[in-house]
Formats: sequence, structure tokens, C-alpha cells
Amino acid sequence: MSLSVRSKPYIIPEYSLTGDLLSYLTCPLQYRYQNKATLPPSMPVQLWFGNFIHGVMEEAYLRWDEHHWKDFPWDWETQIRPVELEINKRMRSRGLNPPPNLFCTFEGGNDNPGLCPDHHHPHKLVASIRAEKAINTWGPHLFPLIDDAEVRLKGIRDMPRYQKDVSRSNYYGVTGIVDVLSSVQLEEATPDNLIIKYLHRNPEFKKKIRKLDSYEIIVDYKGMNRPVPGSPSWLHHQWQVQTYAWLRSLQPDSKPVLVGILFYINELHRFKKDLEELKGEVINHQTDIMPDGDDLELLMNWKSRTSPPDLSQSYQNLRSIRIIPIEDDSLHESLRAFDSVVGDIEENINCEVDGCGIQNSWNPQPERRTCDACDFRTFCSNPAGGTKPTVP
Ligand code: SF4
Ligand SMILES: [Zn+2]
Repeated sequence: MSLSVRSKPYIIPEYSLTGDLLSYLTCPLQYRYQNKATLPPSMPVQLWFGNFIHGVMEEAYLRWDEHHWKDFPWDWETQIRPVELEINKRMRSRGLNPPPNLFCTFEGGNDNPGLCPDHHHPHKLVASIRAEKAINTWGPHLFPLIDDAEVRLKGIRDMPRYQKDVSRSNYYGVTGIVDVLSSVQLEEATPDNLIIKYLHRNPEFKKKIRKLDSYEIIVDYKGMNRPVPGSPSWLHHQWQVQTYAWLRSLQPDSKPVLVGILFYINELHRFKKDLEELKGEVINHQTDIMPDGDDLELLMNWKSRTSPPDLSQSYQNLRSIRIIPIEDDSLHESLRAFDSVVGDIEENINCEVDGCGIQNSWNPQPERRTCDACDFRTFCSNPAGGTKPTVP
């Protein structure tokens, strides 16, 4: 009698575009430690803030809609703070605790006094300063255009470099979440809507819009500064938006996606380090949004010893918004690029399963800014700037 062998469970690995693929591209080894370790969950600052700002904007939109809070600016303590606490609660239940000094967890009463030395009231720390700016800058223009918030996208693709009996699966899943703006809402918007103004200044958008009756725009938020054109992040964000457009097109109720909009939230409030970075980009003519007039003068005359000057609101807004036209060519190029990233991740997993060890299976990709904020730098084999821990 022959015994039947139980077959391996059939799994389709699922990759989130931002949580997995962009994370992996930032540093494969950090991604491995973050996602696949049995270590306690710990989040690098940027990833935590990215999740937080996404949640805050969604929840703020829901409250704007439900409570008819149409008057801006919203008050931080009574309107924005409850949104932040709600999102922090949800993130903590998923094991995502705020990195120290980024967010005050004080909730009032004696139950949850928070971590700040003076714990009698909430503190507006970095994450809150930026959340407030994001809501009060983009909320009035963005919320009226949203047709569908937090739309979950999902698609299945062939597993790249598939090998029978070696690959985990012949398919993989890719997921993402976006807000969707519709042409109906865009046409009904008031003439002073800033997002519409920026869209109409974009030549590709104007050309495309002429050919279509109804269309959509997808929106995502980034808890970071605007990257330098041509840099890896600049390109990866472009891939992300194109891939989201492809995923959206698979949904039966969708209209053609004309453009994607990314909001770089950190541009709305700059700390010293951000301003130093911007100054460097301006001196080297690296950025696509150059300051002029007073902004240029303020920036060039600023010395790092002094507190950062206030650049004009319109300059900050322009730097914060990035409009990315959806094109067939770049869409397919992006899908191919992410296929290849999945291929690499799967290879790293197989290598680790075969006993190569973590550090030999997943390459560190040292980049100063990522390594400085990386929780794993003390046992990483190759962090930028050596193994000595620094303050993020
Ligand atoms: S220290 Fe740098 S290279 Fe090492 S895992 Fe962290 S981000 Fe990657
Ligand atoms: Zn506090």
C-alpha cells in the first residue's frame, strides 16, 4: 500500500506596495528585520509617520463629512487631537508604537499619562505639528473632491522567475490603498480650489482631460519631503502611482485614471535638518521646485545656527504636491519593476530558508538618512556611518 504524501499548502504571497515593495527598496535587510523577524515590532520613524499621516487624513475626511466641519483651520486640541488619538489607538492595536519624541500619547486622566516629563496635558510634538498642517493646508481643497476614501486595491500577477518546486507560488498578490477623486467632484469644485489650479497648470493633465468625459484621480500621502528628481525615491513613487492606477483599472466601477497626486507632508513644516537639505538641493539646482524672490533670499541667508525662516505658504504648497500623469508605457515599466522586486524578495526568502543566514540573504543598503533612524544598525553588518548609534 502506498501512502499519499500531503501536498504543501498552496499560498499566494501578498505584497503591499508601500509596506513591502517600497520598504524593501529602501533597505532589504531593514525590511527583513522589520517584517519577518520574531523581534518585537518596531517601526522606523518614517514608516510609522507614513502610516500615521495616512490614517489621520482618512479619519479627518470622515469627520469632515459626518460632522460637517467645513470651516478651516481646525482647532488642534478639540478637533485634530481626537483624530490623532484614534489613529494611534488603531496603530497600537496592530503593534505599531510611536517612536520616542515623535508623538505624545497623553490621553487625559491618570490611565494613560504618556511619556513626556510633564504629563498633565497633550504635547504637540513633530507628528502632531505635521498632521495639523496637513489637515489645515490640504483638507479644505482635497476633502470636497474625494469621491471614495480608502479604496482597497488588489491584483494578482504571475510570479517572476517562477521555478516549479522552488518558488513558493506561481502567482503573487499586490495591494494598496488610495483615495479616489472623481471628475464630477472636480467639476463642482469652487474656483478657488488650489488642487484644481495646480492640475490645470499641468500640461499633460490639460491635454488628457480634453479627450474624456469622466475620469478619476488617485491620491496618496507621503510622510516625507519631496525627493530630488531622478533619485531612487522619486522613481519609486512614480512606479507606485502607476501601479495603483493599474490596480484601480481592474475594479469594475472605475473610470480611467488620468493622474495620481502625492502629497509630501513634511514640506508643510520644516525643521532645521529639512531646511539644510533643501538649501543643499537649491544650491546644487537639484530640485524641480526652486524658490524665488523672498523665499530664495530667506533660504540663502539662513545660517544653521539660527531658527528656520518661514518660507511662503505658496512655495510650501507647491513643494508638497506632486502630480504624476498616468501613461501606458510608464505603467508597464512600473509593473515590470515591481515584478522584479518581488522576484528579488522571493529569492532572498529562499536563500534564508536554505540556511544562508539573514545577513547573507538580505543585502544591507546603507543610506545615511535611513541608517540614522534604523533600529537594527547596532547589529547590521554595514550601516552608513559605522556601527555607533546616533540620535535620529
Ligand atoms: S543600518 Fe542601514 S544598512 Fe543596516 S539594516 Fe538599517 S538601514 Fe539597512
Ligand atoms: Zn506629552
